[in-house]
Amino acid sequence: MAKLKALLQKRENRICADCGAPDPKWASANIGVFICVKCSGVHRSLGTHISKVMSVTLDKWTDDDINFMIEVGGNSQANAIYEAFLPKGYSKPHPDSAQEERQNFIKSKYELQEFLQPSLRIVSNYPSDVGKQAASTPHSGSSKSEIGMVEFIGILNVKVIGGTKLAVRDMYSSDPYVVLTLGQQKAQTSVIKRNLNPVWNEELKLSVPQEYGPLKLQVLDHDMVSKDDVMGEAEIDLQPMINAAAAYGDPEHLGDMQIGRWLKSADNALTTDSAVMITGGKVKQEVSLKLQRTESGEVTLEMQWIALNM
Ligand SMILES: [Zn+2]
Repeated sequence: MAKLKALLQKRENRICADCGAPDPKWASANIGVFICVKCSGVHRSLGTHISKVMSVTLDKWTDDDINFMIEVGGNSQANAIYEAFLPKGYSKPHPDSAQEERQNFIKSKYELQEFLQPSLRIVSNYPSDVGKQAASTPHSGSSKSEIGMVEFIGILNVKVIGGTKLAVRDMYSSDPYVVLTLGQQKAQTSVIKRNLNPVWNEELKLSVPQEYGPLKLQVLDHDMVSKDDVMGEAEIDLQPMINAAAAYGDPEHLGDMQIGRWLKSADNALTTDSAVMITGGKVKQEVSLKLQRTESGEVTLEMQWIALNM
């Protein structure tokens, strides 16, 4: 907590990262900025998957949260990334700006990531941005006709480690295997006979398109005579890993460190917060999931992200 207070005392952090209001008392613990109370309201409205708002004075901070803030290094460092390509003449909101102006800016800055270096703008649901992205990737050339084709932004290696306390689907046990689905792609592990605590340690590979959704995981019970039964499922949000990797650039030039996190919440399947790490020049994330729509079971994975066109 003392370390966090010290960081807050740095001059750059004495004003809100978004509107410049003095003496911010709030922070976004997964973006790494100090913000004023008005901006904190807008951050909160984006959802915790984009910004996890915490009070510097009132909330109980974990060591992980504090270390992440220190790693980002404060408002100047964060803005150097999130406002790297703020258009010339663009005026940021002021401390007394209208709520709407504040909202538009904060949404553009963090959710749509419009001011990030163009090649880093990966996540987008907006057709107008798809064009920008396609034009900025070298191999797409100048042809606009390629928009709409599937272009892959990276490779996801998923090591399915194992499951525990899986549900019983046959007489006394189950013959489980894992299926991963990302858009149109599917990959699956082998079947392990009669085991509710299987160890797979199998690596599955998926290509990630520009417009990617969550990675879906299903555990199924292999059945010789009838349709395979579902033993539970879970969704994995890939945005924290892909966004963090994009913001930090080529991992081979970086030392081992935590660069982002996917936070456990009531509406996801995480059993615990999941850190995005750079380890030995690779972007990795361990994920532990509680299976949904079933009576019991957890599955652990280790994901690795390899960005293309970096
Ligand atoms: Zn503010």
